[in-house]
Formats: sequence, C-alpha cells, structure tokens
Amino acid sequence: MIGFDLSEEQVALQDMVAKFVKNEIIPVAAEYDKLGMLPMDVAQKAHELGLINAGVPEEYGGAGMGMMESCLIAEGLTYGCAGIATSLLLNSIAAIPIMFFGTSEQKEKYLKLICESEEIKFISFAVTEPGAGSDVAAITTKADKKNSEYIINGRKTFITNGDLASIYVVLAKTDPSKAHKGMSAFIVPRGEGIIVGKKEDKMGIRASHTVELIFEDVRVPEKNLLGKEGQGFAVAMEALDRSRALAAATALGLAQRALDESLKYACQRVQFGKPLISQQLIQKKLAEMSMEIDAARLLTWRAAWMVDQGKLPILESSQAKAMAGDAAVRAAVEAVQIFGGYGYSKEYPVEKLYRDAKIFQIYEGTNEIQRLVIAAELAKKVK
Ligand SMILES: Cc1cc2nc3c(=O)[nH]c(=O)nc-3n(C[C@H](O)[C@H](O)[C@H](O)COP(=O)(O)OP(=O)(O)OC[C@H]3O[C@@H](n4cnc5c(N)ncnc54)[C@H](O)[C@@H]3O)c2cc1C
Repeated sequence: MIGFDLSEEQVALQDMVAKFVKNEIIPVAAEYDKLGMLPMDVAQKAHELGLINAGVPEEYGGAGMGMMESCLIAEGLTYGCAGIATSLLLNSIAAIPIMFFGTSEQKEKYLKLICESEEIKFISFAVTEPGAGSDVAAITTKADKKNSEYIINGRKTFITNGDLASIYVVLAKTDPSKAHKGMSAFIVPRGEGIIVGKKEDKMGIRASHTVELIFEDVRVPEKNLLGKEGQGFAVAMEALDRSRALAAATALGLAQRALDESLKYACQRVQFGKPLISQQLIQKKLAEMSMEIDAARLLTWRAAWMVDQGKLPILESSQAKAMAGDAAVRAAVEAVQIFGGYGYSKEYPVEKLYRDAKIFQIYEGTNEIQRLVIAAELAKKVK
C-alpha cells in the first residue's frame, strides 16, 4: 500500500523544526545574509536540538533518523533561510560517506566526534576543484603513499563550511594515470598544511560559508583511507546518490516559502479595486507553483523512502533534485513578480528567495548533470 500520511513522530518533528525556524532563524536571516556569515549561536542551538547530524546512527551519537526525517528537517530549515540551512545540513551530507564506507574504527572516532561534542563541529565534503566541477574525474589533487601514510597536495574550491570544519572528506588521485578508478577518498582532520583560501562573496545563500581550501603536504595516516584505494569515485557518487534527496528537500523549503509569501501578499494587495488573488493570471501563477512543489515533494519523498529501504536511488534522486531545484527557481521568480516592485526591494523576503533559489540548480550536481544521469539510467532500462 502507498500512504502519504506522516507519522505522529514525523509531524512532531516538523512542528519542532517550524518553531525553531520561526523563533531562531527567520528573525536573523536578513541580517546574516547581509553580513555573509553563519549565526553560530543559531547553529549551536540546532546542534543541541539534534538537527545537525540527524541521520547518523544512535550508536555513533546521532539521532538515528531516516532520510525521510532528514528531508523534513531540511525542508523546514530552508523555509527560514537557505543559507543557514545549507551550512547546517552539510554535516548530514558529508557524514554519509563515513556512514556507508567507513570502518567501525573510523565511525567510532569521527561520527562520534561530530555528534557527541558539546560544541557544534562541522564536517566538509571536498570534491570540487578549479578545473574539475561537473567532471569529477578531472581532479588533480594528489595523495601520494609514503610508508604508512598519504601526503595530500592540491586545491579544492567552493567548499561549504570549509573554514569552519574540524574534519574533511577529501577526494584525491592516488593514481593520476587513471580517471575514475585512480581516485580515493580520505578522512582528513583539520591540521597542519590545510590552508583556508578565499571566501566566496556569493549572490545568494550568503549565510553559508563557501571557501577555497589548499592542501600542502597534508599527512594522513593510511587508516584514514575511506573505502579501498581506487574506490573514491564510487564513494563520492554513492554518497551523493543517497544525499541528493536532502538537496531536493532544501529546494522544496524555499519553494514552499515563496508560495506562502505570494499567497499571503496576493490576498492583501488590492489593485483595480480587488485583491490580486482574484486576478486569473495571478491565480495561474499560484496554481502552477503549488503543482510543481507538490510534484517535487512526492519525488523527494520517494527518493528518501528508497534510501530508508536500503536502496540506492540513482534515477529517482536525480529526478527529485532536478525537479525541486527547478521548482524553487520558478517559484522564486514568480514570487517576485507577484510582489511587483516590492518584490524587488530588500524590505520584503522574496528578494532574498530569488537570489538564494539559483543555487539549487547548481550545487550537489548541476541540473544539467542530473538530466544526463536520468537519461543514462533510462537508457539502461531499454532491452
Ligand atoms: C555555494 C556553493 C557551495 C558548494 N559546496 C560544495 C561543497 O561543499 N563541496 C564540493 O565539493 N563542491 C561544492 N560546490 C561545487 C558545486 O558542486 C559545483 O559548482 C558544481 O558541481 C558545478 O561545477 P562547476 O561550478 O565547476 O561548473 P562546470 O562543471 O564548469 O559547469 C558549468 C556549466 O556547464 C554545464 N555542464 C557541464 N558539463 C556538462 C555536460 N556534460 N553537459 C551539459 N552541460 C554541462 C553545467 O551544468 C553548468 O551549467 C559548491 C558550489 C557552490 C556555488
């Protein structure tokens, strides 16, 4: 049977997140967007409520929630601010490679470190490089094996929370003569040789920190190899296949906020003697926003459900991410249009939604790349 009702626990979780967002995130979102900084006190409170590492199993100090619950948290947090939510949710994404490919010793050490520390600890996922974005196999960061350790050299770019992180999951080439099969993943604690480079001055999600990282002779013990040598591409891609539902859910949070703000405004604003909501062209916009958001939410929940069933949703998570990212951008564009000139002003929240929305078509694999994945998966089904 297919059911769409959330459990009592899931509804309680949604309510808890909504209350946190209303009291802690919405009041400071515009200020930290302007500053281009993460409000650390808000991040600490989210950590204390168990919202940061929700998907980490309880035995390693996490909340042990499923992907479905993590998606509900993601949608709720992004409703308040996509920038703050991006930083807070990144731990859930970066912990996935350790959860699925880590040895028990690695999980015991690093998952417990991020979950059980009283003070919030960040973990970053460092894949992208100046010359390797969508084409992950083109990375040039190298990990050379010397006796019982690896020495990492290279440059990563656009790394979320890179300046705040205590731990990095880093993708590097252990055999530069090979493309995909020459890559390995490493757990790299912050330390000597890791230099934080320029911080991006971004159009949107400004409260999340996005930085360049330079690795200069960073020594990592052999036991910090994640998975096997040469398995790095699979580690990264499988982690992204599992976490993409989360990226979709963040896009949904913004899209829903755009719809709610637009509906409220359309009911209040009077032109030509009646509220905007009674104009059919405005109704069409609102109806289409709601159709796309609901369609994206169903795809997102299906992908999350598959992860919780132990499946690897490649096609389904790409469909969800692309649909939700596109829905968020369209909803934000239409929200500004419904607000008219006021939508263009920073005095109203939709201006920020418009700037923030665009990232959902770019990070976690661009929406063009999602379409390539979808087509490749469809082609596999042709007999
Ligand atoms: C705010 C922010 C946070 C980020 N956080 C992280 C992070 O924490 N860790 C991390 O590793 N990375 C992170 N990234 C990087 C992000 O994942 C990359 O920006 C993204 O994968 C695209 O890579 P690129 O920017 O190099 O674009 P490119 O790969 O150069 O692509 C440019 C354009 O060409 C299109 N394109 C590329 N190849 C094809 C193709 N074969 N067919 C059709 N179109 C194509 C793309 O879709 C895109 O529109 C972040 C980026 C941003 C902006």
